[in-house]
Amino acid sequence: MAKGKIKVTTENIFPIIKKFLYSDHEIFLRELISNATDATKKLNVISSTGEFKGEIGDTTIEVIIDKKAKTITVKDKGVGMTKEDVEKYINQIAFSGAEEFVDKFKDQDDAAGIIGKFGLGFYSSFMVAERVEIITKSYKGETAVIWECDGSPEFTLKNHKKKEDRGTEIVLHIDSDSTEFLEDTRIKTLLDKYCKFMPVAIKFGEKSEWIDNKKGKKDKDGNVEKEEIKVENIVNNPSPAWTKSPSSLKPEDYNSFYKELYPMNFEDPLFHIHLNVDYPFNLTGILYFPKISPNMEMQKDKIQLFSKQVFITDSVEGIVPDFLMLLHGVIDSPDIPLNVSRSYLQADGAVKKIASHISKKVSDKLEELFKKDREDFENKWDDIKIFIEFGMLSDEKFAERAKKFTLYKTTDGKYYTMDELTNKIKKNQTDKDKKLVYLYTNDSEGQHSFINAATTKGYEVIVMDTHLTAHLVGKLEQMQENSVFTRVDADTIDKLINKDEEIPNKLSDKEQEKLKPVIEGVMSKEKFNVQFESMSEKDQPMTVVQPEFMRRMKDMSAVGGGGMNMFGGAMPDTYNLVVNTNHPLISKILKEKDKKKQKEITKRTADLALLSQNMLKGEELTKFINQSLELI
Ligand code: ADP
Ligand code: MG
Repeated sequence: MAKGKIKVTTENIFPIIKKFLYSDHEIFLRELISNATDATKKLNVISSTGEFKGEIGDTTIEVIIDKKAKTITVKDKGVGMTKEDVEKYINQIAFSGAEEFVDKFKDQDDAAGIIGKFGLGFYSSFMVAERVEIITKSYKGETAVIWECDGSPEFTLKNHKKKEDRGTEIVLHIDSDSTEFLEDTRIKTLLDKYCKFMPVAIKFGEKSEWIDNKKGKKDKDGNVEKEEIKVENIVNNPSPAWTKSPSSLKPEDYNSFYKELYPMNFEDPLFHIHLNVDYPFNLTGILYFPKISPNMEMQKDKIQLFSKQVFITDSVEGIVPDFLMLLHGVIDSPDIPLNVSRSYLQADGAVKKIASHISKKVSDKLEELFKKDREDFENKWDDIKIFIEFGMLSDEKFAERAKKFTLYKTTDGKYYTMDELTNKIKKNQTDKDKKLVYLYTNDSEGQHSFINAATTKGYEVIVMDTHLTAHLVGKLEQMQENSVFTRVDADTIDKLINKDEEIPNKLSDKEQEKLKPVIEGVMSKEKFNVQFESMSEKDQPMTVVQPEFMRRMKDMSAVGGGGMNMFGGAMPDTYNLVVNTNHPLISKILKEKDKKKQKEITKRTADLALLSQNMLKGEELTKFINQSLELI
């Protein structure tokens, strides 16, 4: 028997592990099972190279709770360890960072970060156990050994002839303040969270119902207990879809894996992207574009991060490009360090490279889908555009790549790429300053009369109706020289795209001056700014518009961002009331001698303008209706 001291100069590290890593206690299970899978995979490797010639047999990892003995055992049939191995890997290596750890833990705010950096994987078992045993027998065939440690830096290491089969059993004697981990529901939850896709099959059960079937066990009176074996189901899926080759998977397989990941999501995803990179780093994964209904909250944090099938985290902010956080799926890379803190991950160079690479892969895939089957892509467009818009706004490189497949839908339901649209409208929608004017609507119903006027003139109106529109049009203007985006109701039809085509004005300046106070007399001066314009006789006599820049500032301050909140809260709404000087009704108002009647006609005309913008409300609307009825 050997007695020894774990090589740490600081007297007792375990209370520190316990105290400072409190919130992450549950990861002990992931650490132990991932060690067990490592050991099993190693065995497979040395068997295939011929270094190990024996029978591999069933390598299912067993997780066993014994409520009576208050233990959790993790048992594998992997390579096992010789006495020297235990001395080297458990007593020295696994703990080599401990000294540094003790020095630094004070400056760290995140437990997982410390564990990962200092390689305390196995030692995390002391977060929940007062005593830990390692019973292990190496594939090399030497006598098994038992290592035991009670949380002080002292351990014992001796031969253990009883263990005859290859592999390692880690027995945790659960601490009195961690008894929650003796509940099978708790362990099941943890297995599901951390071990769902680990690469070796895992079984889970309780000792009372799970008795070693070969030998049976003697109880304290020497009777052999009944060999009652409850066959436990495998709790994990050791070969999840992302580890397979894309060519071996059918669309249904991708959809059923989606269901496995998100049992609560009933809708099939729109499409998937199977990531498979081996240079300049290793990365596999499947990303899904989820189908989202327009009023559904966008769900972030649906992507799960793995390192060789071991779950790391599902809070991927700063790791995955922002806009891709709205996607669902898994990303697996051995280059993503296991169990380090989020802030550490965010700063990690390899992780940054991975993020920008994923972004590129996503745009490549979108381009491919677009080229392969444009009709299908168009059908999906309304569902995916929010992701793309978000991507364009948050990732410069993505915005550049997205030019190739981003679509713009016009009010007649046709889809164009920006190039196609530009070519189509170049001739008709260039204004007097040689700027190309893109017209858009965010509400085809509400802005119907404006859209109608525009399309009658042969203009194309793009439907841009997400909550990102205000930001997006700014971005597009910035990306394309000499372009302006104008909402279709930003001005009267002749001014919307100003081509300097003067229509002769029927009213003189003097007449306009006379008319102005009459019109102002029926409107709120703070809200409406009266303007005269010589328009076609066929256009409306009065129109309410809100200039593009005014409305955009307001929209931007509403969604927040762009530093547009300088008005401190809600911006007041102001509009232009455009008076068509060539309309017969306006001449009539001007010529009317009866002041009362003049006011009445003016008010009614202005009310009609408000009504067509859905702005006549409350008492004003009631009055308008009553007066109209009287007239009839
Ligand atoms: P890491 O897994 O990062 O190497 P750990 O502290 O988790 O760090 O484990 C330390 C070492 O102990 C492992 O590298 C391995 O050599 C050995 N070890 C731990 N668990 C097992 C096991 N179940 N079977 C065989 N070797 C193990
Ligand atoms: Mg480990």
